[in-house]
Formats: sequence, structure tokens, C-alpha cells
Amino acid sequence: MKSYTALADIRTDLQSGAVTCAALVEHYLERIEANKHLNAFLEVFTDSARKQALAIDAKIKAGTAGSLAGMVIALKDNICYKDHKVSASSKILGGFVSPYSSTVTERLLAADAIIIGRTNCDEFAMGSSNENSAFGPVLNPHDTKRVPGGSSGGSAVAVAAGLCLAALGTDTGGSIRQPASFCGVVGFKPTYGRVSRWGIIAYASSFDQVGPFSHTVADNALIMEVIAGKDEYDSTLSSEPVPAYTQALAQRAPKRIAYLEDCLEKEGLDPEIKNRLLRIIEQLRAAGHTVEPVRFPYLDYLVPAYYVLTTAEASSNLARFDGIRYGYRSGNATDLESTYKKSRSEGFGIEVQRRIMLGTFVLSAGYYDAYYSKGQKVRRLLRDKTQVILDQYDAILLPTTPGVAFEFGANSADPIKMYLEDIFTVQANLTGMPAISVPAGTNSQNLPFGVQLMGKRFGEAELFALAKEVQELGA
Ligand code: GLN
Repeated sequence: MKSYTALADIRTDLQSGAVTCAALVEHYLERIEANKHLNAFLEVFTDSARKQALAIDAKIKAGTAGSLAGMVIALKDNICYKDHKVSASSKILGGFVSPYSSTVTERLLAADAIIIGRTNCDEFAMGSSNENSAFGPVLNPHDTKRVPGGSSGGSAVAVAAGLCLAALGTDTGGSIRQPASFCGVVGFKPTYGRVSRWGIIAYASSFDQVGPFSHTVADNALIMEVIAGKDEYDSTLSSEPVPAYTQALAQRAPKRIAYLEDCLEKEGLDPEIKNRLLRIIEQLRAAGHTVEPVRFPYLDYLVPAYYVLTTAEASSNLARFDGIRYGYRSGNATDLESTYKKSRSEGFGIEVQRRIMLGTFVLSAGYYDAYYSKGQKVRRLLRDKTQVILDQYDAILLPTTPGVAFEFGANSADPIKMYLEDIFTVQANLTGMPAISVPAGTNSQNLPFGVQLMGKRFGEAELFALAKEVQELGA
């Protein structure tokens, strides 16, 4: 079977009868089997995917199929799917079967997407390299000595290696955009409050958003059209109507685009990525857009504010994993306190433990004002300063990552070094703005990287249109 990269092509072939959903599922099952060494999937939902495929083929014949008919999609292992296992790639949720589906899962199913399996990720979505999974690292298909990025590395690899057409991930500080960049696919983080978090295993609730991975901006926009919008189970969602993102893709109005000079001057930014960005700026100008430099002298505050606030939220969210209600319970515990201590010490990996301790510290009585309150104030300032730019410009252009995919182990000894990998992605999460990473070519070693566009709050329609244009610029 040919390797599809766009739902539109699959649709054409489904209509003509050249392919069926059942055949598509078999094709992806074979691809997954042949690429097992990448460790992208923790579990393949063979039976339910085959069943779905038959049902959707019947609907296609009857002319009643939904907008995602023919899309074979994977879910990051922190997105609940009724009667299927979900573990956040952690031992602590060992054996847990979700009793309900997340809102995004329900919406995908209602639109006739086929869910093929759950993908490996950093434990509880904490990480930038997928080295923190309790089930082993995911390998980058472009160079298996390198990380795929994280935390949604399995989802990015599943799409990049053609193991499914699209995948969902979650992005708390870059976990969709960064692996998308490292793997050469499109990854999108919606505006905070655009996509329901109901049924998503929480990391940092005021940052977490679900979003799609795909080869094309058009497929990304289509999935967003399905999953976005009001949900009575998530009170942080906006009631702002969801525009038809796919209809807006062809818009080609001249835009005002800012780029952050401070990002381009940042030491540590790979010169090849910098040069590509400079070239994109020229190409966008040549296409009739206004592209201007702006100052944002707050880069050094982004990563610290992000890690103070997200670890605080994580320490609270992860308190529920206590060895009593669900998941792993230590066999060595003798009383209540040792049940907590041993279950959590044995069940959580090292990075999760580090963050729970850091978060507990920043929230503790004597330090709350010095760290957590200060972090909140910095967040507010960053949001206001970003908003000032977006009041004058339609979008902000910036790198997705400082470099291309790094080798396994390169940042493992020094957590701070690893955290600095997130410097260009956390701004969108701290401020709640939508942001997308689109493939921008490959470097001299043939490794892919993306560029990032950040848009106005709830401005995803415009952002998708611009992202499509950037993806089409060519090298
Ligand atoms: N790398 C970031 C972190 O480790 C982002 C994680 C995410 O977006 N889930 O927190």
C-alpha cells in the first residue's frame, strides 16, 4: 500500500474503492510490527481498531461516515479511552484500565477516526527526550541514536515513521511542538481553554493542552475542528465558537509578523536553525508580509517560571497516586504511611520524584511567597508583555528548539541543561497562546527541525493559514 501523508488522499481512495479502512488498519498494523524497535507504541489496539474499521467501511458505503473517516490515529498514553489501558508511561498506573473516555477520544470516535493504540511518552509527560518512560526510550526514526523529543515522543515517531496517519499528544511546555520539530512533522498546541482536558492524566492543569501531530497543516486543522470546543466536564474551556479551521486555510492576506531578536541572538541556538529562520523571514517578506524584529528581554525568566509553577501543580495533581485508590501498591508496605512512601518511591521514576519534591518545596509554608507567588507574578508579566506584541502583530515567529534532536544521554546528567531545551516552547504555555511547529527542512546531517509560530488567543484559524504558507515555502 502507498504511504499516505494526508487524509484528503485517503478519502479519494476510499471513495473510489481503491482502499478500505480495514486494509488501512492492516497496513498500519504491519508498519507498527516492522518498526517495533522504535518503541513508539506501548500497546496496539488491534481488536478494537479492526472492529472500528469494519463499522466505518459500512458507513462509507452507506454515505453516513464522519469527517475523520479513514484517519488512523494514535493516542498518547495519558489520554483515556474507555476499557483500554492507560499508564502515563508510569509503573504507578500498572494494570489500570480506564473506565471512561476523555472528551477528545469521544469526539474522535464520533467523527469516525480509528484509534490504533497508545503511544510511549515521558512518565506523566515530564521530559524533553522520552528518556523518562518506565517502558524504555522511543527512538528517532531519522537517527536511532538520537532522542525523538518529549514528552509526546511516541506520538511524533508514530506519525513520522508512518505507523499511523496522525496522533494526539499533550503540550504543557512544548511536548507536542518539540518532538514534532525533532521528527519532522507538524505539531500544534491550542490556546489554553480551547480543547477539553477531561480524561487527560494531569501534569500541570493550568498549562496542559491536547493537540494533534500530522504531516500536513490541513490534517492538523481538521483534527482540531473535531476536538476543540466547549465541554461541560472542563470548566476552563471557553465558549468561544470553534471556527471551521480547514475553510480558513486558503486565506492569503498580508500579515504582520514579529520575530524575537532575543531568540535569534540566544547563545546555544544552532546556527543552521538560525540561518533557516533568517531565510524564512526574507521569504515571508517576499510573499508580501510585514516581518519586523521586536525585543523580548525576558527569555531568561521563561524556563525558571515554568518549572516553579508546573512542579507546584504536579506535586498537587500527583498526590492522588497513593497506592490505595488505583494502580501500583508496594508489596513491602506494612501500614498506611509505608504504603504511601513505598508505593510512591517504587512506582514513580526519578524525574517525577524530583518534580514532586521541587513542587512540594515551592509550595511549602516558608517558601510559597519566595517561589510560587513570585512565579505567578512572573507569569503574569510574561503574558502581558507577550500580549503587547500580539496586539501589534498577527503572529510571532521563533525557533521551536535550540537545536536538532540530540543523542541519547547528552542531557541526562544535568536536569537544568535538559530543562533549557524548553526555552522557546514554554512561552506559549505560560501565556496560554496557541503555537505550532512546522517542518522547516533538514540540517547538514539530514536531521529535521521545525520553526514555530505563536498566534493570538483563540486565533488558531489565522495561525493555521500562516503555518500552511510557511510549510509551503520550501527550503
Ligand atoms: N519538556 C517539558 C517538561 O519537561 C514539557 C513537558 C510537556 O509539555 N508535557 O516539563
